[in-house]
Amino acid sequence: MSIVPDVTVGTRTLAPASNKRDLVGLTREELAAAMRDIGEPERAVKMRANQLWHWIYHRGATSFDTMTTIARDMQKRLDEHFIIGRPVADQLQQSSDGTRKWLIRFADGEQAECVHIPEEDRGALCVSAQVGCTLTCKFCHTGTMKLVRNLTAGEIVGQVMLARDTIGEWPSPKDGRMISNIVMMGMGEPLYNVENVVKALKIVMDGEGIALSKRRITLSTAGVVPMIGRIGEELGVNLAISLHAVRDELRDEIVPINRKYPIKDLLQACRDYPTANNARRITFEYVMLKDVNDSPADARELVRLLAGIPAKINLIPFNAWPGAPYECSTPEAIRRFAGIVLEGGYSSPVRVPRGRDIMAACGQLKSASVKKRASERYREANGPAV
Ligand code: SAH
Repeated sequence: MSIVPDVTVGTRTLAPASNKRDLVGLTREELAAAMRDIGEPERAVKMRANQLWHWIYHRGATSFDTMTTIARDMQKRLDEHFIIGRPVADQLQQSSDGTRKWLIRFADGEQAECVHIPEEDRGALCVSAQVGCTLTCKFCHTGTMKLVRNLTAGEIVGQVMLARDTIGEWPSPKDGRMISNIVMMGMGEPLYNVENVVKALKIVMDGEGIALSKRRITLSTAGVVPMIGRIGEELGVNLAISLHAVRDELRDEIVPINRKYPIKDLLQACRDYPTANNARRITFEYVMLKDVNDSPADARELVRLLAGIPAKINLIPFNAWPGAPYECSTPEAIRRFAGIVLEGGYSSPVRVPRGRDIMAACGQLKSASVKKRASERYREANGPAV
């Protein structure tokens, strides 16, 4: 493991230092409205919004004075009212396998983690949706944190932009991207922050900006059933389901959201998912926990449950963390399980753990942000009582 000195640390303007409005995270319509707000004439509003979109999301500009297609006096006016925000990387760690993990600090000081998992000629960026998580899944490190807060759309897109700053991926390349895929598999439950996640992913998917296609984006959920259809309709991204158990009794215990949305309802939402077909199968994630969910009977039940769903099953060897109450299944148990699933007609790749040495693998993310009582927040905002 090595700590890579990070050039972005401390070099960005932090939003709270100014009362200027951050343009990152606004929809195209909101961007146009912001131009109207500073008195741009109606006939110029759309053109300005398009120019800004191009500079912010295609070129990665972080200040207005680099926007050479915009006249100097307009650059100045923009700078008087707005910033192009970036969160700050408090720390950037690199694993021996090339995986990188950013500890990202947002404008209010809260922190979340973001991970880049490179392959030879491409790579996935694992993005967080919340600071902390409410789900309390038994095997997940993030689950030991309380939910601190939802991330805004700008903070979600900001993770992608910061990673691109570090990796040097501006302007948006046509081919050969090292951030070629995005997985909403970082901290938090994306479907408990669905408004901001949808807004952020629409920005990421916009063809004139970051321009990542919906086929290259995967959203993972532990099963917030009522929100699943909306993701299919509004975004059409790939869906991943954190299943992890095939009986309600066990799933109630290890993925407690199951008590609210049991397996049957979850699988029905998957059957109804609009883009699910053989070319774009739903991924079912299944963490391999020794003597908990890894028996041949579990594997057979999994095959039975998924009948009729275009699915692939991603077996994830359990990644340990300090104090974790489980152990990873043995290689033989994993092989046996994968064999049964494969024989049942489903592809069952075993996920190679990446970034374990820097605690960047699935389920290992955790930041030091803690949920504060309202009184503490008040004191921080207003100073000690006198
Ligand atoms: N809340 C969403 C997004 C998080 S994705 C969801 O649950 O899908 C993170 C993935 O890693 C999930 O599939 C999660 O269940 C899995 N995971 C959590 N802890 C893990 C661990 N210790 N080892 C391996 N995978 C884990």
